[in-house]
Amino acid sequence: MKIAKTVAVVRYETPQASVRRAVELCRGLDHLPARANVFIKPNIVFWTRAVPFPKWGVITTTRVVEDMVILLKERGIDDITLGEGMVTSTPGDTQTPAHAFETLGYGLLKRRYGVKYVNIFERPFMTVDVGEGFRLNFNADAIESDFIVNLPVMKSHNQTIVSLGIKNLKGLIDIASRKRCHSMQPGRDLHAWVSRLADRMPPMFTLIDGIYSNERGPGFDGKMRRSNILIASADCLSADLVGAKLLGHDPAQVPHLADAAARRRRPTDLSDIDNPGEEIESMARYHEYDFQYATTEEGCLPVPMAKEGLKGIFYRKYDLSMCTYCSGINGVMLSGIRQAWNGTPWDGVEVLTGKAMQPTPGMRKTILVGKCMYRAHKDHPAIRELIAVKGCPPKPKDLLGALRQAGIEADPAWFEKMDQLPGLFMARYAGRPEFEEGHFRAGE
Ligand code: SF4
Repeated sequence: MKIAKTVAVVRYETPQASVRRAVELCRGLDHLPARANVFIKPNIVFWTRAVPFPKWGVITTTRVVEDMVILLKERGIDDITLGEGMVTSTPGDTQTPAHAFETLGYGLLKRRYGVKYVNIFERPFMTVDVGEGFRLNFNADAIESDFIVNLPVMKSHNQTIVSLGIKNLKGLIDIASRKRCHSMQPGRDLHAWVSRLADRMPPMFTLIDGIYSNERGPGFDGKMRRSNILIASADCLSADLVGAKLLGHDPAQVPHLADAAARRRRPTDLSDIDNPGEEIESMARYHEYDFQYATTEEGCLPVPMAKEGLKGIFYRKYDLSMCTYCSGINGVMLSGIRQAWNGTPWDGVEVLTGKAMQPTPGMRKTILVGKCMYRAHKDHPAIRELIAVKGCPPKPKDLLGALRQAGIEADPAWFEKMDQLPGLFMARYAGRPEFEEGHFRAGE
């Protein structure tokens, strides 16, 4: 006989009480060992010190983090570590994570509850075989803990369709492992790697923070919503299957969830899940995950740019092989091109990113973005004029140089002040009281 997994879907209403209800309904801490060493994994997917930027639907609310810490303390847990490996514009930067932790009130949580917090890039890693030869370097604090509290944000995701509990664990691996996840090896694409992230974890409780959700996440350029949903389970995959459904996606169509379910011989239709909380169907809201691109003989661009009439530029749509660090500069590059448009078509410029794209015969100039693309095509016979941006990740000044060499007179200020870009998205949320800054401070 199969034993049903319990997932509690709860409406977020009040501090402490809502998280408590979610935990109690799913009995999510019943298997927490006495005097356990607990590792809490929030989702701080990105941070910058340069400007305030939208955190709603991007970063786990400190409200939910603090409420979980209170519940752990009530159970006599004193050894609690909060840990994250966030993406910053300069890999190796330690000041930005420190700023993130302090701004999010983790310093106050330390003083009030004695929790520790760590930037995982300053801590040891250990190699873990997550099955069938898939090997990743995970933060040792998390792997060696007695219990993990996994606190993802409820997001759709432009590459993995949804980003929930399993995907949140990608923030525990080192940079080399993150790049490996974007491999082009058959059977070892991003979905296959992500599907295994939870397979060798210590006992875990997952609470998906859907106070805010993110459409076309994972970052600040998505469309945030106030959703007021909490999804809790002692089984991470079950929480994710329900989370996908609440984001309006059939879990069977989310490759990493379908893979993870198949390996466990579980259905994806929620038929083995017991939900003592709110009814799922009535709370589900479709969250688009994809950015649409338009391709014609005159160009290839994201639909909003194509509609503006830009011509002569073929900026191919990102694929699964483009890793997080190249993704970070992709939006900057597109915005730079958009700003440079003055109505005169460019001269057949193709931009290729990631590891898998192939040059199109007949293009006059080909910009290869990143070390991977350069290595793949530096001698390609179809390329007439090759413009290389060899970095890993590419440097903003090199991207600017490449555009200018291709005849696209992008504004240098745009690339020099790349750090300011996230701040521009704040205007979308001005005068909307449902987006509360207080949720990202402790003690409020
Ligand atoms: S060049 Fe870009 S896609 Fe390739 S590994 Fe470096 S950051 Fe990732």
